[in-house]
Formats: sequence, C-alpha cells, structure tokens
Amino acid sequence: MASKADSSSKIICPLCGKNENENRFHDRSHKVRRCLSCELFFIHPYPQNVAEVHETVIDYDYEDLDVLGPARHYRSSQYTYHLIYPIIREYCRNASAVLDVGCGSGYLLERLSEFPDLHRVGIELNAARAAYARRVSGCEIFQTPVEAFRYHRHFDVITLINVLSHIPSLDDLFYALRGLLSPKGVLIIKAGEMSKHVEKEAVFDWGIPGHMHFLGLNTMQFIADRYGFALIEHQRLPFSRVFFSKERWLAPGRSRLRNLAKTLIAHTPYALNALASRYDRRFGGQIYSSLFVLSIRNEANHAF
Ligand SMILES: [Zn+2]
Repeated sequence: MASKADSSSKIICPLCGKNENENRFHDRSHKVRRCLSCELFFIHPYPQNVAEVHETVIDYDYEDLDVLGPARHYRSSQYTYHLIYPIIREYCRNASAVLDVGCGSGYLLERLSEFPDLHRVGIELNAARAAYARRVSGCEIFQTPVEAFRYHRHFDVITLINVLSHIPSLDDLFYALRGLLSPKGVLIIKAGEMSKHVEKEAVFDWGIPGHMHFLGLNTMQFIADRYGFALIEHQRLPFSRVFFSKERWLAPGRSRLRNLAKTLIAHTPYALNALASRYDRRFGGQIYSSLFVLSIRNEANHAF
C-alpha cells in the first residue's frame, strides 16, 4: 500500500522545498495541497514560469474575468482598509518612505497623503489600475514585479495587502523585500490564514489559479525564520468578521443585481450578524483574516 509520502513524493512545496504534502481538495483544474512541514497550502500544478504569471496579471481583461475595474476596485478598497488602516497609519507616522506592493487603484497611497513628508511609492502590474492609482494618489507607480524592483532609497514601511497569494516566487519576493527595507523598517502583510481542517466550502471562491498559495497557521513564522525577519505583530480576525462586515457588503462588485441584494441585506437589522453566526457554527476556526508586521532580525552571524 502506498504511503501518503509516496503518493506526494514528486510534488515539492514552493516555500520550504520539502516533498511531504497532502491533498486537501480540488478547485477548477487544480488540486490544493498542504505542506506537512511549513503548512503552506499550494495549488498543484504550481506555475513554473514566473514571467508567465506576471504576463497574465498585466494582460487580464476585466470584461472576461470577474475582476473589478479600477474605479470599483477603488471603492471596494474602503472595506479592505476600514479595520487595518489605523494600524498601518501608526507605522507610517514616523516613516520617511513607504512602498505599497500591489497597490491596486491607489486607495492606501492616497490615504497616506495625510503625512505630507512621507515619500509614497507603489507597484502595480496591471496597467489600468496603475494609471488609476497614479491619478488618485499622485505617486510614482511602477509596473515592475517587486522581485526585480530597484529604487534609489530604502523604505521604512512596505505593505502587501491581499497580494501575497498572487506572487509566484516566495524566495525571490522575500529576498527582494529585505533588500528594499531600511534597517529598522517593517513589512506589513495582510493575508488569509487557514487551519489544517479548512474545507473547500468555507470560501465562496478560492480564486484559483490566480491565488497560488495560502498560509497555514504557522507559515508566517516559518517565513520570518527563513528570510531573517522577526514577527513583531500578528493579529488574527475570524474570517466571518471580515466577510460579513457591513463595509464589505456595501462595497460594489460587478453585478448590479448582486450589489442591490447585498445592500438590502446590509441594511436589514441583525441580518449580517445572523449570517456570521451561521457561518461560524459551520466553519468557525478554519480561516482567519490576518495582519502581520515583520521587522528585520538583526543577528551578527545571519547569512544576509
Ligand atoms: Zn512547505
């Protein structure tokens, strides 16, 4: 009888490189596997060609895919930031330069204009969103993958808000981020975290293969250790608090009919609380919306 390790022996975890992983579920044409070592969830087959992934992001057509156009993306960003902006703001208060990786339509960079001395820069590969971001934020927005991005100064704060699962080379990403950070700088990352018991039905749309990997509950600590960071802040919100928040239900999507239905529910007293309670009874503890703050770990004998 084949053991679990035998059946997965040729499938390598894209984060830790180990080959012991288990199948969790299928979605569209991919499997989702979970690494037994670093706990990363990753799609299989995993994209081998990083350049091809970037091309897909640059070229995707808003009419063909259920991806929000820049104006709607900007309006829906308000719900993304309503809980986390106060935290980002505190880290930016004494910073001199910030880089927002995957800045989308520029909502965060525009809000950070409240600090007039803060130098603000964005990276956004999609041309339409990059142009929108330039317009609303007035910042330099580069259409260069962060792994290849070079700049004439270091950043005290680098943010990656809901972008980690889209970036195909975690090694290249975290080495690049370390190189871009100032010695006392921080990385602020917002991403989902999954328990090992997560069920496919816990998420309405996993967004596969656009989303290539998802964090397990201990994966960010693994990342911090591997790439020379200290995890200095880690906030975990139950997914239901974000998914059933009024701000999210009032945020516009592509379908007008769905927008109308969502608005009605959002304005019905207790409706979202009831939906959140029902979700938690079924899927509670499986998924979190998490915010991580990492700083560079300064060790005299560190390899960097
Ligand atoms: Zn792994």
